[in-house]
Amino acid sequence: MKEYKTEAIRNLVLISHSGAGKTSLAEAILFNAGTINRLGKVDNGTTASDFDPAEIKKQISINLSLLTCEWKDNKINTIDTPGYPDFIGEVKAGLRAADTAVVLICATSGIEVGTELVWGYAEKQAKSRVLFINKIDRENADFYRVIDQVNAQFGSYCVPIQLPIGSQDKFEGVIDLITMRSWINNKEEDIPSSLAGDSQKYREKLMEALAEADDDICEKYLEGEEISLEELVKGLKKSIALGKLVPIMVGSALTNKAVHCFMNVICDYLPSPKDTEAMKITNAISKEKEVLYSDSTGPLAAQVFKTTADPYVGRLTYFRVYSGTMYSDSQVFNVNKNRSERIGQLLMVMGKEQFPVSQLVAGDIGGVAKLAETATGDSLCAQDHPLTFDAIEFPRPIFSAAVYPKTKADVDKLGTSLSRLCEEDPTLVFNKDTETNEMIVAGMGESHIEVALEKMQRKFGVDVIMQKPKVPFRETITTLVQTEYKHKKQTGGHGQYGHVYLELEPLPRGTGFEFTERVVGGSVPRNYFPAVEKGVNEGLHEGLLTGYPITDVRVTLFDGSSHPVDSSEMAFKIAALQAFKKGVNMAHPVLLEPIMSVQVTVPDSFMGDVIGDLNTKRARVLGMNPEAGNTVIDARVPLAEMLRYATDLRSLTQGRGQFTMELSHYEEVPTHITQKIIAEIKKDQ
Ligand code: GDP
Repeated sequence: MKEYKTEAIRNLVLISHSGAGKTSLAEAILFNAGTINRLGKVDNGTTASDFDPAEIKKQISINLSLLTCEWKDNKINTIDTPGYPDFIGEVKAGLRAADTAVVLICATSGIEVGTELVWGYAEKQAKSRVLFINKIDRENADFYRVIDQVNAQFGSYCVPIQLPIGSQDKFEGVIDLITMRSWINNKEEDIPSSLAGDSQKYREKLMEALAEADDDICEKYLEGEEISLEELVKGLKKSIALGKLVPIMVGSALTNKAVHCFMNVICDYLPSPKDTEAMKITNAISKEKEVLYSDSTGPLAAQVFKTTADPYVGRLTYFRVYSGTMYSDSQVFNVNKNRSERIGQLLMVMGKEQFPVSQLVAGDIGGVAKLAETATGDSLCAQDHPLTFDAIEFPRPIFSAAVYPKTKADVDKLGTSLSRLCEEDPTLVFNKDTETNEMIVAGMGESHIEVALEKMQRKFGVDVIMQKPKVPFRETITTLVQTEYKHKKQTGGHGQYGHVYLELEPLPRGTGFEFTERVVGGSVPRNYFPAVEKGVNEGLHEGLLTGYPITDVRVTLFDGSSHPVDSSEMAFKIAALQAFKKGVNMAHPVLLEPIMSVQVTVPDSFMGDVIGDLNTKRARVLGMNPEAGNTVIDARVPLAEMLRYATDLRSLTQGRGQFTMELSHYEEVPTHITQKIIAEIKKDQ
């Protein structure tokens, strides 16, 4: 494999609404570069990017994939990402590793929900952005309508640098507005006379946008001076690299038309790692910020952006080198784990295939197999110069499911298989809910969890049943009561004798459990107090209404009696447990449910529907605050009503709404609902 200098590397991430053509574009790029010799199709599952069986079956990307090729002596690393909101974690990881985000828009559908979403992420995360208007060959495709939409929604710093020649089934090629030449069937020609006027108009728009973005060009432009092609290219490259100008291109990935022009743009105008702004990074020893340049002779600093677990190949780690050079058969230091890692054979990744390389220089992206402890987000450096990257921010899980192993063999393998799945996917987490005793898997949506569990079945042979998680209800008491229990037994030899008086008192929500005593005159000897507390504790675990734990109660031992021979810790424990149960029964027990603090962010047009839906979910809306064209609804909602909210909100808002949710507190369940819940729980048991 050829070695490439940093300035000859381009790192792209393809992002879009699902189905805009990312995988097809990646395929066309590889085909044009000669990396693959057959143009695969998404529709028959033959692309280099989507190789996972689940991806082929569903015909969507689920994992990001790394594809490498050479064009005009440059190495282009393309990261293809999934477009489904369930797999947004992959987009976040891809954006971290790339220098330029290529946002694809379908020429027929225009800006869609997913386009807005990924554009938002790219605005925050990507150094430079470009727009590719794809599917221009399709019926009803309209380049100019999409441009108007883009300018209205994203701003006028997004400008075409190409115009389509023909449209729909008449699409032939593109006009390059920089050189003012046409490209039809990969051949350079004069601009067709019918498009001369439009070309002039859009070149003028390009010059205006460039003058806005670049001070040098601005000065000349205002003075009416001639701007040479060289100056134009220089200004354009700089403005694109800084994200001050977003060039718009057009083509058809499926029919592979104008894709080679796009590839020329990648090499000629998009930033190499050297052209992007130097990043600031923390020195793990001095804790000071250091400036990190894309310099292959600088200190080694690489960050892992993706880890895959394969039962055969083992762990495969994808990383980007930001500074220095990483060599095969070397030792690196994982700063996050504070340990050395041995780097075996470095790999250039091409979808599911890998090719050995001896080194990866600053700016390059590659992989390595079998690292022992390195995980996504970790920094790999030299031990004497440890640098820590900012963590990659992954969205927090919003959808949970309970999983039950199907067989005994599945029980044994469940924990390790789940932890390997979560290693691959930072948006997936699992834990054992200690209150409901269920294994909970949480992620970005129902499909996300389904795909993960399918993968677990396929890769590790573990079969599970997926269910709605149980709500961790609790119980408490509502009145102060005093209760007594005498445990007395005479069974031959030694008898058993424990006798207690307890006072049970409700406490404010969230206090938990308190145990005190105010025994006078030693009616219960001090050495039995711990046994009494133990007995009460046992009773707390299982409430009388539903079997869920009892909370927010103070129990005071205030009297009792003992026997010099027959009293024992066991006898007092039993007496305390029975007294407690009796007391709870008398103290009007009630059911408590978790109330979640929920923040829903929706475009104003969906406000009415979302509030209406929240009202049917027993929500208390506390506030509505405007935030960048959206409204943030602050509400408290019972968890029992929110178990499928990720799905509900998505369908209510066509995917435009987002929400976060965390436990706020426990509250008494309204009486009319209590009976229903108790009946349901009894049925489950
Ligand atoms: P992704 O989800 O963004 O990766 O999109 P895909 O590449 O999987 O494409 C989704 C569908 O659109 C597939 O059926 C493709 O064959 C089709 N497609 C992709 N690019 C084009 C194009 O340029 N023109 C037309 N007509 N169809 C396309």
